[in-house]
Amino acid sequence: MHFVNSREGMTVMKIVLATLNAKYIHTSLALRCLKAFAEKDFPDIDIAEYTIKDPAMNIVSDLFARRPDVIGFSCYIWNIEETIVVIDMLRKIMPEVKILLGGPEVSYDTEFWMERIPQVDFIVVGEGEETFHHMLQELETTRKFHLVFGLAYRKEKEGKSQIVVNPGRPKLDLATLPSPYRFEEDIPTLANRVVYFETSRGCPFSCQFCLSSIEVGVRYFDINRTKADINYLIDQGAKLIKFVDRTFNIKRDYALEMFQFLIENHRGCVFQFEITADIMRPEVLDYLAEHAPPGVFRFEIGVQSTNDITNEAVKRRQNFTKLTRTVNKVRDSGKIDQHLDLIAGLPHEDYDTFRKTFNDVFALRPEELQLGFLKMLRGTGMRHDAEKHGYVYMDRAPYEILGNDLLPFSDIVRIKRVEDVLEKYWNAHRLDHTLLYLVEQVFPSPFDFFQAFGDYWEGRGWQRIGHQLEDLFARLWAFLADRGAEASEGRLDLDVTLGLMKLDYFLNHKYKPRKVWWDFVMDKAEWSSWMKQLSERPETVSGDFAALGLADKELHKHAVIDRVPFDLALYLADGAIDKSADSLLVMIYGGEAAGKPYALRITGQEAVEQLATTE
Ligand code: SF4
Repeated sequence: MHFVNSREGMTVMKIVLATLNAKYIHTSLALRCLKAFAEKDFPDIDIAEYTIKDPAMNIVSDLFARRPDVIGFSCYIWNIEETIVVIDMLRKIMPEVKILLGGPEVSYDTEFWMERIPQVDFIVVGEGEETFHHMLQELETTRKFHLVFGLAYRKEKEGKSQIVVNPGRPKLDLATLPSPYRFEEDIPTLANRVVYFETSRGCPFSCQFCLSSIEVGVRYFDINRTKADINYLIDQGAKLIKFVDRTFNIKRDYALEMFQFLIENHRGCVFQFEITADIMRPEVLDYLAEHAPPGVFRFEIGVQSTNDITNEAVKRRQNFTKLTRTVNKVRDSGKIDQHLDLIAGLPHEDYDTFRKTFNDVFALRPEELQLGFLKMLRGTGMRHDAEKHGYVYMDRAPYEILGNDLLPFSDIVRIKRVEDVLEKYWNAHRLDHTLLYLVEQVFPSPFDFFQAFGDYWEGRGWQRIGHQLEDLFARLWAFLADRGAEASEGRLDLDVTLGLMKLDYFLNHKYKPRKVWWDFVMDKAEWSSWMKQLSERPETVSGDFAALGLADKELHKHAVIDRVPFDLALYLADGAIDKSADSLLVMIYGGEAAGKPYALRITGQEAVEQLATTE
């Protein structure tokens, strides 16, 4: 091979490591690990990151302009199909370039990928650092690719091309890997993108739907190096570090030491972890409850299913009672947001048991509940046993299931509608007060609310059009007014719901809203009279409100008011709905009172006074 690039009189290989991330803010740790390991011998390595939304033409033009001798692509279920389109074009315009793939998506069924994508020269299977480096060495020198453990390649024999998949490479000693976090070219964008960070590799559990279950054992990077790298990243401006460790809290002492270190050194950076909640030790929880600064940590917790037979079938050991204890304790501390994951479509989980799983988990009131659908990942036990449970699934990535013996496609489609409104409403936290009222006091269960609303949403064709904040309110209101009574078995009180929706709407604004989505029925005289009372007798609202000392002019500029048909102060204090008196809801935008609702209970006396002033 002729390497066209010259540096200081020497011919060097020009290598581009590329990937298509799901979003611009994501960064690829894999590419950085490969570069860090190989650059001692191959100094001309570019990292080129694109997104799956980028037109293939733009990606190919950019890669072409870099004039590489070797291009490596990091492949995952979210990018493999888009990557293939790019490779297909590249091969046509750069017949000489060596194309290699790596990553979890091509590390299983490797022969299949070599056959499906004939434009690819090599596949690096599994952990890539040493294999990639060794493959480059062979490419540059003797080309004895059969010596490279973990490599798949093509060999010419008797005029025919053959695929060879070499034996796998033993696991790497993590102490031999250089840091992938210190590239100068990453510094300018550190603050705007997510930094992915690994402190360990491997998972001790064996959940059959997960790729991490295949490898045995957990290896750790040196803790002092880890701390130094994190400090460096924060110094250079990183604002969000996401740990990719499969289970951050396997070792109690390690987790405790790291949490302590991060608490002492966070300097405004936010950290996300995947944790296994049922093995979280009480002393670690106590420590976090006492010391974690609010908003600095976020936990992602896979629950997947609360159905015991399901968990047994996928070899997932999970103690839901202990998990609940952890999630409740973390939530009660009020310092750490929790994101809980569910998977619909696991074995032995039908629509009804999934409804129960959903309700069990929603009862924990996570800040975010992500409802995913089972994917039959290549290499997993689940895919291997697919026939046993009658699974049908997409042939192409992401291999999502289309049904099984217990969950027909029609049920999957119904559950997708739940997911859609769950995302838009609960996970986006647009109507927390209203939703809590609806799921706790009105609908038979949270799942039933989301299902009925999701069905309505789809029935109206709203999934095909976008929405603004006002639309979210107006559409929920349309559903409740139209179907609410029936779907809630007669428990819905529309007046109370409207009052809570007004509260949520006001809370959703940073600045005084110019319009409201409901019919504002208070007439001018009543409105003026309330404003007068707020300015002249603010103590009738509360001592706190009076202490704001808002003059008439400021109130007119910064306040919104409306009536709600219940005792708002009582509701805000303990969540109880008491309809014995209306309230005036007061929101102030700007200044120290911003974002906080105030309530004035409208007693009989208040109402008489109002009447007198407005007459
Ligand atoms: S789902 Fe989580 S706990 Fe289970 S094997 Fe995968 S990474 Fe490990």
